Amino acid sequence: MRRRIMAANWKMYKNAAQTTNYFEQFKPLLANSNSPARCDIVIFPTSLSVPAAVVAAAGSSISIGGQNIYWERKGAFTGEVSGEMLHAAGATWVIVGHSERRQYFGETDGAVLKKTQSALEAGLNPIICVGERLEEHKSGKTAEVLVRQFAGGIAGLTEEQFSKVAIAYEPVWAIGTGQSATPHIAADAHRLIRSEADKRFGQEAAQAVRILYGGSVKPDNIEGFMRQDEIDGSLVGGASLDPQSFAKIVGAA
Ligand code: PEP
Repeated sequence: MRRRIMAANWKMYKNAAQTTNYFEQFKPLLANSNSPARCDIVIFPTSLSVPAAVVAAAGSSISIGGQNIYWERKGAFTGEVSGEMLHAAGATWVIVGHSERRQYFGETDGAVLKKTQSALEAGLNPIICVGERLEEHKSGKTAEVLVRQFAGGIAGLTEEQFSKVAIAYEPVWAIGTGQSATPHIAADAHRLIRSEADKRFGQEAAQAVRILYGGSVKPDNIEGFMRQDEIDGSLVGGASLDPQSFAKIVGAA
């Protein structure tokens, strides 16, 4: 069985002081469980709160990541942060191609590929997000969208690069809506993504890649997802902002 990843995407919430406070509550909740031994736990604060999170997580098995990077290493790119900078701040992971970045900041599959390559060069572990929008879901285009996003954003990696990424299937209609996909729908999408990986990178690589589900995961629905062998963890937004709630989710891994 693949080692699961339980990841918290804090989006644009929590300043440095709130981040420190969260860890003060969250770490003791993990101390009494064996979850850290069973899965990777990664928290993605805003870039500004990454240093506070790195300090607060020291001595625990919690890793810290950024929610986005730009693909260039440095230069006149006002407002951007590079993978190298994130890594130097102590982050070891990064989310690439989250649907909110695609929707509000025009991130394309081509950008996702460049950001992923750049993240790997900087020594970060990328979680690449894919997923269909509501109208695509309703019109039966999920497979088409996932195949296209895989072809444009992931297939251009080398085999070695692919072995270092994780993928998050996040149907856009399930993100922040309270309406999660069913475990069955998610597992079907994961199988499709894995079959695309098999075609491009071979069976061994496809079996090894970790695919997470994200979209309105809560303490009361996580167990259904975790019963599916296809689902290698979860990327959690809203329900990760409360330490008790995220600790319960992590406990289901
Ligand atoms: C996310 O932001 O990646 C996410 C899945 O959000 P939520 O859990 O709030 O749906």
